[in-house]
Amino acid sequence: MNKISIKIGLLFFLAIFILEGISMVFLHNNIIHSTVHEELTSLQTRGNNHREILEASFHDETIRHIAMMEARTDTQVILTKPDGTIYMSSNRVTDAMKRIMKTQPKSIPHEGFILEDDWKNAAFIASISPVLVNQKITGYVFMFQNTQKIKNLISGLNQHFLIAGLLSLLFMMIIIIFLTRYVTHPLIEMSEATKRISKGDFSVSLPKVGKDEIGELAESIKVLASDLEILKNERNEFLASISHELRTPLTYIKGYADIARRRETNGEERDKYLTIIFEETGKLSKLVKELFHLAKMDENTFSIEKEEVHLLPYFLSIIEKVTPALKENQMDLVLECPEDLYLFLDPIRFEQVILNLIDNARKYSEPNTTILVEVRHMGERIHIKIQDEGKGIPAEDLPRIFDRFYRVDKSRTRALGGTGLGLAIVKQLVEAHGGTIKVTSNPNNGTIFEMIL
Ligand code: ATP
Ligand code: MG
Repeated sequence: MNKISIKIGLLFFLAIFILEGISMVFLHNNIIHSTVHEELTSLQTRGNNHREILEASFHDETIRHIAMMEARTDTQVILTKPDGTIYMSSNRVTDAMKRIMKTQPKSIPHEGFILEDDWKNAAFIASISPVLVNQKITGYVFMFQNTQKIKNLISGLNQHFLIAGLLSLLFMMIIIIFLTRYVTHPLIEMSEATKRISKGDFSVSLPKVGKDEIGELAESIKVLASDLEILKNERNEFLASISHELRTPLTYIKGYADIARRRETNGEERDKYLTIIFEETGKLSKLVKELFHLAKMDENTFSIEKEEVHLLPYFLSIIEKVTPALKENQMDLVLECPEDLYLFLDPIRFEQVILNLIDNARKYSEPNTTILVEVRHMGERIHIKIQDEGKGIPAEDLPRIFDRFYRVDKSRTRALGGTGLGLAIVKQLVEAHGGTIKVTSNPNNGTIFEMIL
């Protein structure tokens, strides 16, 4: 048994117990009352019958006959004169009887009067009926009945009540046990489900329990579990993106720091590299700040803060950053960009896009090839193309290239340090800028990424 079952069971039990107790007491009192009432009326009626016979013929013969009749029953009759002296009695007159007879009131209605009805304490219940002959009282008929008979009757009744009460209590308990099981079963299952959810198992299956509030609760728990799962996955994805975003600037910082500390690097070059390092660390700290902000807001995506950017210097500064790395691979980069192009974009985020694409072009190409970055007007929009002469992407892999963690050549790209996240982030960022990206590729002939913004 669990806590809630015990609680509900006890409540049920208490409520029914009180209800049953009250109705039992009520019933019990009523039955006793009507039993006693019946006994009293029958005693009175008996006395009145004797009185009628006496009124018809008040003779010794009749009186003796009445006494004889009464002697055989469990009641007792006493006939007195108007002054109280006893004419006749069917049995011995006890002191208790005499005491009761003394309580006789002055005027007694013809239909008689109950002298004693205290069946609990008195030894007898008693009635009195006046005998009227020619409008004159010629005597009184007293009737007595031992209260032991009523007491026995009532104690028998009490016993029945006790048995009935105990039986119904037992019955009640059995029903309550089953009922609370039925009511609490889904609740307990739900509490177990939530425990599993908190441990990270989101595959909750709850029984269908109908359309009541408990059913709704089960439904909400299911929704909550799937929401939590989505949230958790989002969080994981976000963390992966974060590490990717942090890694790119860190790679450049490391590379430039390495070149700058070499002996053969002259002062002018060192200054240049240190400036780049300084800029990159600025970007990094801005990113970290934003991350902190996001964590506070409990959001799992970066926000895009657009500003108007003059594209030619923007692309030149990005390309300057990658030139040393390209030189190491003996690769060339050609930029074609008109002087007068402006675009609303988030410079830090969008730099990530371009860097990721150029980085891919570099990683998946052979030495002595050229990367072409082309920026041009296309009606209202800006078209950006990044083309390499690398090994290309097989047609069957093209549709999945933007999926998270998808890599064409697992072993090779792992050697190149790829995680398969770059393009997923690129796509996400381009779409966040309101743009589109597509890829075309010919194996051994190079790959083209095209963005329209
Ligand atoms: P990361 O960018 O996270 O370091 P990655 O470069 O492996 O790792 P993505 O940038 O998402 O991940 O690229 C996914 C896969 O697509 C790469 O593993 C590679 O196989 C293929 N790919 C991407 N760009 C090119 C390209 N320019 N030429 C040939 N293959 C490419
Ligand atoms: Mg990549």
